[in-house]
Amino acid sequence: MIVAMQQHASTEQIQKVIERLTELGFEVHRSTGAAQTVLGAVGAGVDFDIRDIEVLDGVQEAHRISSPYKLVGRSFRPEGTKVKFANGLTIGGNEVAIMAGPCSVESREQLFTVAEQVAKAGARVLRGGAFKPRSSPYSFQGMGEEGLKLLREAGDKFKLLVISEVMEISQIPLMAPYVDILQVGARNMQNFNLLRELGKVRKPVLLKRGIAATFEEWLLSAEYIYAGGNYDLLLCERGIRTFETYTRNTMDISAIPIIQKLSHLPITADPSHGTGRRDKVVPMARAAVAAGADALLIEVHHNPEKALSDGAQSLYPEQFTKLMAELHLIARAVGRTLA
Ligand code: PEP
Ligand code: MN
Repeated sequence: MIVAMQQHASTEQIQKVIERLTELGFEVHRSTGAAQTVLGAVGAGVDFDIRDIEVLDGVQEAHRISSPYKLVGRSFRPEGTKVKFANGLTIGGNEVAIMAGPCSVESREQLFTVAEQVAKAGARVLRGGAFKPRSSPYSFQGMGEEGLKLLREAGDKFKLLVISEVMEISQIPLMAPYVDILQVGARNMQNFNLLRELGKVRKPVLLKRGIAATFEEWLLSAEYIYAGGNYDLLLCERGIRTFETYTRNTMDISAIPIIQKLSHLPITADPSHGTGRRDKVVPMARAAVAAGADALLIEVHHNPEKALSDGAQSLYPEQFTKLMAELHLIARAVGRTLA
């Protein structure tokens, strides 16, 4: 941490700050200029509140240099994390993996129709919510275990891995036998009890960015899972809430290179929730691969007008097939291939 004292800070004020920093476990290096004193503090643990220093008398500003997350930070694994699956798929390497399917599992006919089409187009993972976090309690809440069974069956039939959202701790043992990746939705990014429990699971987790989460908050949430011993962790940018109302969320493409700098975890992009509009999903999917995403999560529905959730942002299967052909070219242009 760097602490800049005010120009006319008294010797006493400076001494108090040094004492407080020393108490916190820092080794303090003092630099006294003609008008201003700057303190460099190194070596303490991660658990301190920078505001405790900022509010001390005579302090002009204080800046944290080290990150508060340790295990998910890039320096912990500079070479990057590769999440490997039994069927040979690796996420986080040179290949870009595409996950696709309906927002919600609605019926056998719906899921199998969409699964067949996305598999044919080259997707490697089938998505579909069985437990749905809906803004309204009157909206479709998902098929529950019945939906999970259908996902597993469709995944096996069309040789796709399966991802589905877990909303609470009690669903973890129920879901584990059916899914290959447990998705934590934006609304649960800071459900710390759930995250801690997922740290104990030995199954990959995809952690979405919260609706209004900073990178630091997102990575601290990832730290909960990683610190529990579950290292098979994927992050997913899914758009954030801004002042703009045209799109459902504002898709933060810059999150992709930023996460790659801050963390060793693979980064997925979800242009469906990121924009909320079908016609904007394709360009944002292209942009995400160009920006370096390790995987995409895309909603596809064979009859989106009749979808029970998120129809407006679901691609028609033909659109998805065309997008896949474009993604092949874009991936190649940035030195990668589609998985
Ligand atoms: C979803 O993937 O269908 C979903 C609910 O996503 P999010 O948590 O990003 O809103
Ligand atoms: Mn959805």
